[in-house]
Amino acid sequence: MRFISTRAKSGETFSASEAILKGLAPDGGLFIPESIPSIPETFTLTKGAWYAMYQSLIPYFRGDELEADLEEICRNAFSFPVPFHSDNGRDTLELYFGPTAAFKDFGARFLAYSMEKLLEKRNEEITILVATSGDTGGAVASAFHGRSHLSVKVLFPKGRVAKRQRMQLTGWDGNVSSYEVEGTFDDCQKMVKEAFMDSALSGLSSANSINLGRLLPQMAYYVYASSIYKLKYGEEAVFVIPSGNVGNATGAYWAKAMGAPIKRIVLAANANKPITDYLETGEYRPRASVMTLANAMDVGAPSNIERLFAMFPSAESFRANVSAYSVSDEEIRRTIKEVYDESGYVICPHTACGERVRKDYVEEPFSVVVSTAHPAKFSDIVEPLIGREIAIPKTLYEIMQKPSSAKEIAPDYHLLFD
Ligand SMILES: *Cc1c(COP(=O)(O)O)cnc(C)c1O
Repeated sequence: MRFISTRAKSGETFSASEAILKGLAPDGGLFIPESIPSIPETFTLTKGAWYAMYQSLIPYFRGDELEADLEEICRNAFSFPVPFHSDNGRDTLELYFGPTAAFKDFGARFLAYSMEKLLEKRNEEITILVATSGDTGGAVASAFHGRSHLSVKVLFPKGRVAKRQRMQLTGWDGNVSSYEVEGTFDDCQKMVKEAFMDSALSGLSSANSINLGRLLPQMAYYVYASSIYKLKYGEEAVFVIPSGNVGNATGAYWAKAMGAPIKRIVLAANANKPITDYLETGEYRPRASVMTLANAMDVGAPSNIERLFAMFPSAESFRANVSAYSVSDEEIRRTIKEVYDESGYVICPHTACGERVRKDYVEEPFSVVVSTAHPAKFSDIVEPLIGREIAIPKTLYEIMQKPSSAKEIAPDYHLLFD
């Protein structure tokens, strides 16, 4: 199996491992499989979620240097449940049982274990730099903590991340260091870019959501979940996916192309709507983001859109395969309250975008809303709406109990390497 760039200028091909270590293709494009493989005949649901996910990943690593390690990587990375909240076919897929209680744990952990194996083989060391304004940094820090041959530097803007998010960024020791930068998120990103451009520094890498190693696991849980759903109801589900950078949704499109039993895929956006506008006008215009209650989806220029355009190049084919709807903050609040009043089920603001879209636009009786984060991560928004406290998941609680350690620094990247 070989991978190419979405820009495919050179015609050069890469192995999965090369793509994982490089992050971005040399021509600036994103890595995609040369052609999407089928689900292998050995695929089975009888050995649990992680094993089914492993099976669906096998074709992408055929002939790769990680082929023999893939089973162990999957067993370690996907070490938590992937359950449905069942509701007569209108179910919710809860992707938030990883250590930082959001779906990004799947990708970050798979990437960390894969990189560790590759670096062990090469006997090399890498430092991962992450600038974060919230969730991504926590998932990456947690995933890479304790992995050998790897260290992580997390940069976040002082006074601009929520208290609980800050705890997830600073509760680490060992190979993870946190830097509280006297500046904005843009300053943090600029420091990372400058460090990458400094030729005196070597062995730096990133763990961006565009990395193939973060995307492939998101394909894998859709193959698993859609197959479980089909087994349970005998029907193919419509998947409604809360989306920002559309990495999660791209995983679902790859799963469907592999033959997973998915009827269709619907994107739920917040007030940031470059994709819904594209569907309406046929003209794609990236833009600045606006702030919403579903802040992990505050994206005006989705980084994974190139991968969707590679699958559906014309406006016509895009429209035939992609549906997307935008949800306002007012609707997010209303939906969280409505779902709680109807059934006692508590959802986060991102999941609420998905639920609103299902209620208003999905007519099919068999559907799955993808729940991207545990509602306790957004207690300041959710608790006043439902009028009660939400229990914090144990893993999140454990991270929050750890002593916080962050170095306060001026926005100068040299200070990261003192
Ligand atoms: C990252 C994130 C999203 C958006 O996922 P994309 O892959 O960027 O579309 C949605 N919800 C939560 C909670 C997230 O952390």
